[in-house]
Amino acid sequence: MASIIAPRGTRDILPGESYKWSYVIKTAGEVMSDFAFNEIYIPIFEHTELFARGVGETSDIVEKEMYTFIDRGGRSITLRPEATAGVMRSALENNLCAQGNFAKLWSYGPMFRYERPQKGRYRQFYQIDAECLGIAGAEADIEIINLSLELFKRLGLKNLEVVINSVGCEKCRPVYREKLVEYFNQHKDELCETCLNRLERNPLRILDCKKENCGKVAENAPDIFNSLCDECKEHFKKVCAGLERLGFKYKLNKRLVRGLDYYTKTAFEILSGDLGAQNAVCGGGRYDNLAEAAGGSHLPGVGFACGLDRVVIVMEEQGCSFGKIPEPKIFVIAKNDDARENAQVITSKLRSEKIAAVCDIAGRSFKNQIKNANSYEYICKADEAGNLELVKNSDDVHENLTLDEIVGRLK
Ligand code: AMP
Repeated sequence: MASIIAPRGTRDILPGESYKWSYVIKTAGEVMSDFAFNEIYIPIFEHTELFARGVGETSDIVEKEMYTFIDRGGRSITLRPEATAGVMRSALENNLCAQGNFAKLWSYGPMFRYERPQKGRYRQFYQIDAECLGIAGAEADIEIINLSLELFKRLGLKNLEVVINSVGCEKCRPVYREKLVEYFNQHKDELCETCLNRLERNPLRILDCKKENCGKVAENAPDIFNSLCDECKEHFKKVCAGLERLGFKYKLNKRLVRGLDYYTKTAFEILSGDLGAQNAVCGGGRYDNLAEAAGGSHLPGVGFACGLDRVVIVMEEQGCSFGKIPEPKIFVIAKNDDARENAQVITSKLRSEKIAAVCDIAGRSFKNQIKNANSYEYICKADEAGNLELVKNSDDVHENLTLDEIVGRLK
């Protein structure tokens, strides 16, 4: 029988890698807490309708990338392709923003999209998400971008580029949409198959098509800034001014529309030159219409999703530090076979004093245990009578001590 391997687009994060992921998540937790964002856990699956209505029927995600199935109760369920819709659902359901309150929330975990796998693109991938709900003003957009950049700064990422755009709101976007349809209709024969389909359904997406011909056509497409209403213009100006005040460089990219339909006003991405084709480490923006699309009352929001898989790749490529690999401090060696049980008891006692300790549980000989133990900071040799000898590997000092004395020394 052929052996079973992991499904295409998934991968195992093995022990030699996993400490890097833990480091990024730990750092994210610290940054979030410095910005007063609270952690939230939301389900990995939701009703399909949440994503269909929230992310948008015409988005690539909903059209062709969702892992959807009928559960045993006959419900249509979808593995979450992104976190924002779920966080919004939870905030509405649990009244997190009742009476004009706002909520600053963060979360991390796996997302699922049926995409063509390549470097930096997987079918199960991980995101760190931050969402600020209940605030319509540009200060919240600035806070979210500030938060993402502080995270990358603490992780030591270099050569990042912030690109930003406004995609308008329900008042001005329809006008812009019309202008786009009119323009692209005149260039139909230059567009790819996918963009021809987008022409009626979601013409804004043609703007960020990666195909060369479509790109050339999009280059001369009507400028969204000429169509923004006064409110959107003002909002965008404030966001840009805020970024400048905080000392962040950014680039305007009028063709940045992002793949999810729920964005309004601000859309941004953070790109890395060290990633190849899939170069976005983070994407986000404002989504003032998502709550209503998900069946709730009006609740403005702005947030980002940072791709953990890609962040780790860039950090590796840039030689960033992932902190120290956590390692036990002391190896407790059984001097002979009769001392084995004692070594395990001593090890357990050290651990309950919060000292990271190991002993041999694989029946290795004394010689092999010694060989193994040399890489630890300390060795403790235990005999069958309970006598303990502490050895500090770096200076080869041997001392006969009690367990309490060893604990005092190592703490
Ligand atoms: P999105 O939810 O599409 O706005 O994506 C936000 C971020 O998640 C991107 O900037 C990527 O870093 C990451 N991301 C999105 N899709 C994938 C994927 N299939 N594999 C790995 N990372 C992804």
